[in-house]
Amino acid sequence: ATLRRVTVLGATGSVGCSTLDVISRHPERYQVLALSGHSNLTRLAQQCATHRPVYAVVPDQQAAIQLTAALSLLSPHTEVLAGPEALQRVAALPECDIVMAAIVGAAGLAPTLAAAQAGKTLLLANKESLVVGGALLMQAVRAGGATLLPIDSEHNAIFQCLPAATDDRAGVTSVLLTASGGPCRTLSAAELQAVTPEQACAHPNWSMGRKISVDSATLMNKGLELIEACWLFDLRPSDIEVVVHPQSVIHSMVRYADGSVLAQLGEPDMRTPIAYGLAWPERIDAGVQPLDFSTLQALTFEAPDMDRFPCLRLAAEAFEAGETAPAILNAANEEAVAAFLEHRIGFMDIPRINAAVLDQVAAVAVRDLPSLLAMDEQARQSARTLINAVE
Ligand code: NDP
Ligand code: MG
Repeated sequence: ATLRRVTVLGATGSVGCSTLDVISRHPERYQVLALSGHSNLTRLAQQCATHRPVYAVVPDQQAAIQLTAALSLLSPHTEVLAGPEALQRVAALPECDIVMAAIVGAAGLAPTLAAAQAGKTLLLANKESLVVGGALLMQAVRAGGATLLPIDSEHNAIFQCLPAATDDRAGVTSVLLTASGGPCRTLSAAELQAVTPEQACAHPNWSMGRKISVDSATLMNKGLELIEACWLFDLRPSDIEVVVHPQSVIHSMVRYADGSVLAQLGEPDMRTPIAYGLAWPERIDAGVQPLDFSTLQALTFEAPDMDRFPCLRLAAEAFEAGETAPAILNAANEEAVAAFLEHRIGFMDIPRINAAVLDQVAAVAVRDLPSLLAMDEQARQSARTLINAVE
């Protein structure tokens, strides 16, 4: 295999660490070109010591001074770059082959767009960038000739189960997007009011960053994934059936006209979709336990409850409303989740604030990245006002 150079955006996070784990198993295939971190400079320094990237990216000058000092012994040849523009630069370097987009939130949109415009093989974990800028990102992928590979486990599963040729979808009748239901699946409406950040972050199957863990608990994650699937696979929400499958063994399915349903199964371990994206169309060892059917118990399925978990419905409505509505919903949700994690609002304030911001802020046509980011900021301000009113 030829050596491919990889930029990992959000290297210090959950998906970033899993990506570096897979890469480290295949030194003959992958070389780390650039890593980015945000607040966890200690981990970023350790990752630089292990992977010796050409570039490391941090948010500002102060962080750059700190990291440079730490790297003087650990990885002296790594050049430290600072600021959001540096993220875009390392995503678009001519010597870069693969970009893993694993920053959390709308902050990942600009560097993800840069990778798409530069025609990279783009491994997309950062679902918020598609929710916020789906039209722009899909357009940039086409214009730049990028190869977009979904890393979100459900979308990776759908990608694996769809016909390989994108113009060969005639026999596909629907997509079945599976959801674990999250840690609050069985709680009553009254119990949901009292859910704490610790409970919300204790996911039964997956170990993930705190923001996506809360999204899993509210089912906003499934809502964001519904929008993500619409953009990735050119679908409408009505083409997608959300199925709650608490064991998270089936990662999603595709239904065909002849009655066939194709599913992708695996351990709930992000290294499987990450390895798939890195090696596509080949397959490589991901360090993941093989699925053991002798110990696998029942696989069960149920319908999602939109009354207890309104975020899923809000996301479908926002996608149907179109324009900047999904970006407004995402911005509200990022602010609400952050406030919930800081114990400033309750669990059920998250869907309430999301719905209120979606009502308050008028969606407009998507023009370009700056106008999208202005809309994002406007929605955040509206959310912050509602959050302050709770306290
Ligand atoms: P984490 O919170 O674990 O990691 C987020 C990464 O982004 C960290 O490297 C963090 O840096 C960095 N970061 C945070 N804020 C900013 C910012 N403003 N600018 C630049 N970088 C920033 O998240 P996850 O790894 O769990 O998730 C990453 C993305 O992948 C999300 O979009 C999530 O929805 C998606 N995803 C995650 C899955 C999972 O299993 N975890 C599964 C499917 C999708 P630092 O830590 O140094 O502050
Ligand atoms: Mg997912």
